[in-house]
Amino acid sequence: MRILCDTHTHTIFSRHAYSTVEECVRTAAERGLELYGATDHFSAMLFPERPGGPDLRDYQYFLNFRDWPRLWYGVQVMRGCEADIVDLEGRLFGHDVPVTTGIAGDLRAVPTTLLAHVLEQCDYVVASIHGQDFLRTASSDQVTSMYLRAMEEPKVLTLGHVDRTEAPFDVDAVVEAARDTHHLIEVNEASLARPAAAQRLRHVVERCAAIGCPVVVNTDTHIAYGIGRFDRAIALLDELGFPEELVANRTAETFHEALAAAGLDV
Ligand SMILES: [Zn+2]
Ligand SMILES: [Zn+2]
Repeated sequence: MRILCDTHTHTIFSRHAYSTVEECVRTAAERGLELYGATDHFSAMLFPERPGGPDLRDYQYFLNFRDWPRLWYGVQVMRGCEADIVDLEGRLFGHDVPVTTGIAGDLRAVPTTLLAHVLEQCDYVVASIHGQDFLRTASSDQVTSMYLRAMEEPKVLTLGHVDRTEAPFDVDAVVEAARDTHHLIEVNEASLARPAAAQRLRHVVERCAAIGCPVVVNTDTHIAYGIGRFDRAIALLDELGFPEELVANRTAETFHEALAAAGLDV
C-alpha cells in the first residue's frame, strides 16, 4: 500500500518539534508525497500558565496561514492544527478563552474565543488528548461520549491517536459514529512505536475494518526526517488485510474526498 499524504505533522511552532514548514514540505516533495498537512499543537502544554489564562499572542503562528502557498515544491500544503480535547464534554482547548483584542492590542470589532479565532484559519483539526488527568476517574461511557462530542466540534476531521487514551471506552461506538458522521480514525505511526498504544491501535484498526470506517494514516512526526515514513502503519494494515479503499489519505484526491464528505474541502 502506498500513502501519499501526511496530514498530522509538527513544525517548530509546536516547541518540542524541530523543523520549519519549508523543511517539511521539501521533505514531503523528496519522498514523493502529494499532500502535506501541518498540524501544530493547539494546547495548554506549549506555554506555562499565564495569570490571565492562555494568550492569543502565544498562538499567533496559526493566524497568518494566508501567506502559505497552497502548492509548494509541487506538494499541496494544508493548514491544520492538533487541538487538545480538554474535558469530558469533548470540548477543545481555547473554547473558553475570550479574545477581545488582536495581537497588536487593538480592540476587536467582534469579540471571539481563542478556539474560534484559530479555527477560522484552519482547513481541518486533528482532535486528540494530551494530559489525561481529567480522564482518571471517568467511566467508559463518559470517555465514549467525550469522543462522540469531540467529533461534533467545528472543523474536526480526525480523531488523533485514540490508542493513547488509557481510560477504556467503547471502541465500536466511536468507530461507528466516525463512519456515520464522515470523520476519520487515525492510524498513528508514532503510536506504533509504543507497545501499549500499539496493542490498542491494532484493535481499533481491526474494528475499523469490520465496521467499514475510513482511517487516516499519519506520522505525527516532530521533525522533517519523519515526513511520509509510515512503515509500521503500513505493515500493520498489510498484516491485517485492511481494505485499501478505507484509507482516506492514499492520494491527495482521496483525502480531498474525505474533507468534502466532512464538509471541509478547500
Ligand atoms: Zn507533540
Ligand atoms: Zn501530534
